[in-house]
Amino acid sequence: MSSDIEIARAANMKPIQDIGNRLGIPEDSLLPYGRTKAKISGEFIQALSGRKNGKLVLVTAINPTPAGEGKTTTTVGLGDGLNRIGKNAMICLREPSLGPCFGMKGGAAGGGHAQVVPMEDINLHFTGDFHAITSAHNLLSALIENHIYWGNELGIDQRRVTWRRVLDMNDRALRSIVCSLGGVANGFPREGGFDITVASEIMAILCLATDLEDLQTRLGNIIVAYRRDRSAVTARDLEADGAMTVLLKEALQPNLVQTLENNPAFIHGGPFANIAHGCNSVVATQTALKLADYVVTEAGFGADLGAEKFFDIKCRKAGLSPDAVVIVATIRALKMNGGVSKEDLGAENVEAVEKGCANLGRHIENVKQFGVPAVVAINHFTADTDAEVAAVKAYCAELGVDAILATHWAHGSEGTADLAARVIELAESGAAQFAPIYDDSLSLFEKIETIAKRIYRADEVLADKAVRDQLKRWEADGFGDLPVCMAKTQYSFSTDPQLRGAPTGHSLPIREVRLSAGAGFIVVICGEIMTMPGLPRIPSANHIKLDDKGQIQGLF
Ligand code: ADP
Ligand code: MG
Repeated sequence: MSSDIEIARAANMKPIQDIGNRLGIPEDSLLPYGRTKAKISGEFIQALSGRKNGKLVLVTAINPTPAGEGKTTTTVGLGDGLNRIGKNAMICLREPSLGPCFGMKGGAAGGGHAQVVPMEDINLHFTGDFHAITSAHNLLSALIENHIYWGNELGIDQRRVTWRRVLDMNDRALRSIVCSLGGVANGFPREGGFDITVASEIMAILCLATDLEDLQTRLGNIIVAYRRDRSAVTARDLEADGAMTVLLKEALQPNLVQTLENNPAFIHGGPFANIAHGCNSVVATQTALKLADYVVTEAGFGADLGAEKFFDIKCRKAGLSPDAVVIVATIRALKMNGGVSKEDLGAENVEAVEKGCANLGRHIENVKQFGVPAVVAINHFTADTDAEVAAVKAYCAELGVDAILATHWAHGSEGTADLAARVIELAESGAAQFAPIYDDSLSLFEKIETIAKRIYRADEVLADKAVRDQLKRWEADGFGDLPVCMAKTQYSFSTDPQLRGAPTGHSLPIREVRLSAGAGFIVVICGEIMTMPGLPRIPSANHIKLDDKGQIQGLF
């Protein structure tokens, strides 16, 4: 089989105007970026508000292997499958970051015969949204330094500047830096550091904002530093919110592209799935719901993190009500959850698959707790055996859930026709009675406890006095209504990445809590969370180049 990039390059792409036409987007509301990408104008989006919403389908997954489980690939495959069976469907995905592209994971535009195109553009600079976010973020950093330099009227405590800098690159050398070295003219030396752009609070803000006005309000709410008396200094105090909004004006408009089968896709926003909520933008999802009868979207990591935050943060805040959930499982990841090491994944092992199904079963139960009906998609890899697939189906049948083999990676929409039909049944059944798992009114600690006990099945939450006091202070300051955004390993229900399957008897230790006042959530950090990844010993970048025809090689 050809590589992802070879398949993508062979795609028969239609002009983006054709895709826009199909969605009923008038020509003057479609803002082309080249021939096959376009943004959708804000005025057009506002004018859609009276229309009825389509059905919303979330694609999530079991706890993954380091390679990813094919959520994006399955989202694309299912979108194409729905169109294939005659439905008016579109998909909503996150924009890939350059970091993983040049690092280990590769691109994030799907795989095999289920991809969005133009693959190279989507994975690289695309329509410049990430550059705009990087610029807006670093403008704020520069304004903080400049304010201190010119006399620090706001009384910022230089030891308590919480706003860092960002770059869309994996560069471990910049995690911790000392800035303003070199003398009086360069300011006051202090420690700082860089995060990757997808970890910027501005990325989360862009993805939760409903329009430009809301965007500016949220940007103004960002807390950049504290004074000696611990009172907060915001971006609004620095008068930064106006200029930042200007830099983000285009970036807030969703990007329209197409799948290999010429079906419409919005790819917009890409917040980290750990210190942020890990879903594409609210603007894109809401617009898609106005333009299509079915919208398929993906949330990052496994369902314990991704789906929980999709429901409790994105859907709660944007008033979205999902109609069905697809839980992606692969035989490989089930085997790993059943205790098989990475090297042995190639060999048939029905017993390990059965054992690993405990992980799948818990995710199924968890999704049901949110009141949304689910179906399991077995994302088929060529090495999977019939006996292994049968074991998963039998396990799910006992739980009263269908598990459907999906071969979109190899066959495109033909491979998801059955899955698509089942998704339609679930979405149209009216069975969904979505509700977030905790109320706004619970205390912040009780919200964390609810997730820890009901989703992770931990016995207790461990937090020292400093953490508990901080949460109480935020409640006193009026932030008690916010949802919590959990940051923990994606490989386990627990905070120990080695504890696969369906662990019990563990506790959830909180290391740190952070307030993202602009995005509107409290980040709860459990274990080591990297906000600036590093590159592996042999990064993908070493194999990316232009061939003699000027085509990109080595992206995957
Ligand atoms: P996720 O969204 O869960 O992180 P992706 O959909 O991005 O995962 O897929 C991760 C990688 O796995 C991609 O390189 C993709 O091409 C590959 N992949 C996905 N599904 C299959 C499959 N069925 N067979 C082989 N490779 C696959
Ligand atoms: Mg993905």
